[in-house]
Amino acid sequence: MQKFIIIAIDGPAASGKSTLAKYLADKLGFLYVDTGAMYRAITYYALEKNIENDEDAVVEAAKNINLTLQYSNGLTRVFIDGKEVTDNIRTPKVNSKVSDISRIKDVRVELVKLQQKFGENNNLVVEGRDTTTVVFPNADLKIFLTANAKERAKRRYLEFKEKGVEISLDEVEKSLLNRDTIDSSRKVSPLTKAKDAIEVDTTNLTIQEEVNRILNIVEKIINK
Ligand code: C5P
Repeated sequence: MQKFIIIAIDGPAASGKSTLAKYLADKLGFLYVDTGAMYRAITYYALEKNIENDEDAVVEAAKNINLTLQYSNGLTRVFIDGKEVTDNIRTPKVNSKVSDISRIKDVRVELVKLQQKFGENNNLVVEGRDTTTVVFPNADLKIFLTANAKERAKRRYLEFKEKGVEISLDEVEKSLLNRDTIDSSRKVSPLTKAKDAIEVDTTNLTIQEEVNRILNIVEKIINK
């Protein structure tokens, strides 16, 4: 059986996971999987159907939803039942609810199954909160990214500004820290650094410095 290489990256909100993961995937020709986009898609769907406070209904939706991710040219396009929701899943409203939805155990069970499927037939760069601990505990390389909260809030604020979303830096920081608290303290699959993960603090690193350091490690793994 062919062995596929899995690089898993976890870390708090806006720590630079997506930027790093996409860059590595493009450079190595691996499939990129954004697991956060999946939790966001379920959350968006639940909000649209007004079932976000009905746990059983959300679990049922997670079981039946037809969720597709398509990655190309640096963008993960997300579809629910064939309808594109790429922009809809990255709003302040989804941000404020996604961590509550992600706490539901059976929602996670469904999404983890989908995520593990990607790894059966592909070399993968996967990122999220539990990809190094629960989804791919045997990943070939595990990375835990951090950055200080002010820097992370600034990054997310600039992304919103670019998209024309009206929100203050302060609101962005509060929402981000709130998500981190819920994501790190939940019972099921909390965000935590795996014992064998390499920790990288991106506060003062440029993407190029970060990538070079990690590519060196990846090359050693691939050539093993
Ligand atoms: O990565 P991103 O910030 O888009 O993730 C959105 C939310 O999805 C996180 O705040 C977290 O609540 C949830 N998530 C998760 N497990 C993952 C990925 C994301 O619980 N593997």
